[in-house]
Amino acid sequence: MAAKTHKVAIVGVGKIARDQHVPAIERSQSFELAATASRNAEISGTRAYRTLAELLDAEPGITCISLCTPPQARYADARLALKAGRHVMLEKPPGATLSEVHDLVELARSKNVSLYATWHSRHAAAVDAAREWLAGRRIDAIRINWKEDVRYWHPGQEWIWEAGGVGVFDPGINGLSVLTEILPFPIHLASAELSFPENRNTPIAASLRFRAPTNIPITAEFDWLEEGSPLWDIEIDTDGGAMLLREGGARLLIDGKEKASGGDAEYPRLYARFAELIPTGAIEVDLAPMRHVADAFTLGKRVTVAPFHW
Ligand code: NAP
Repeated sequence: MAAKTHKVAIVGVGKIARDQHVPAIERSQSFELAATASRNAEISGTRAYRTLAELLDAEPGITCISLCTPPQARYADARLALKAGRHVMLEKPPGATLSEVHDLVELARSKNVSLYATWHSRHAAAVDAAREWLAGRRIDAIRINWKEDVRYWHPGQEWIWEAGGVGVFDPGINGLSVLTEILPFPIHLASAELSFPENRNTPIAASLRFRAPTNIPITAEFDWLEEGSPLWDIEIDTDGGAMLLREGGARLLIDGKEKASGGDAEYPRLYARFAELIPTGAIEVDLAPMRHVADAFTLGKRVTVAPFHW
């Protein structure tokens, strides 16, 4: 088998690293998992360091760093890796604040290395088909419903409840990443209501209303107390029929009839895109989904709801 082009290290060996990044790198033609940096975990058979600083010192041949930590930890490690001249891929959301991501873009530019802020849901199987189907149609209304059971999808993860963890926007931002990818026009937040459990620092539910140039109703409902099957849907009414993008972008239905669907290849596509950016040191950082979330924290009315316990 031909040697893989890039040696990559994963930082933060947790749920998403094990569920998606490791298998995607194994399948990748371009990347070889050369080491990990994680305080408490490792991947058997892979060189393991406790901190990224140790890894960068010991492994000059590792040219790419994939950050799989929670957003609050992202900036310090991204900065370290970029300063050391490594290409960097960021899990979503790309940071804890917009300003820190702008700072990383400047640093990557000055070091001539790639910075890739990933939005995995944009690579779900039917998202491209949805964007193509919408192009040229008149859009009359948009409804996002992104609802899941936090106890099932984020078992025991305390960082989601801490400042910067964004609470229910952690999944909700995936819906916004898809919407901002498929819409032919920009939107901005008009109002929001965020429900904070009385014992937590981030919201467990959120209702958002957006404005578009055409003044159509656009709503997003995020809820973390949905039991059973998750609802990760975007419905768009148009002059050409009703579009329903289901299951986080995996299935596209038009007037109830299936038009596109496919298996889960989101993370292999992320690594394929990262490989395309690296040769020219290109930077791909679209902050639109994160901007809408930041706007919700700025403009949103805060409501206190029942305490949350695992
Ligand atoms: P996780 O398992 O809770 O955390 C990943 C690892 O990061 C932890 O195991 C921990 O490993 C390390 N870490 C470093 N600093 C940390 C800190 N301040 N607090 C907690 N852990 C810290 O989280 P995850 O579910 O993999 O999510 C990580 C990122 O991926 C998030 O931004 C999330 O939005 C994104 N993501 C998650 C999913 C999913 O299904 N879970 C899906 C898509 C994207 P050590 O203790 O060994 O250092």
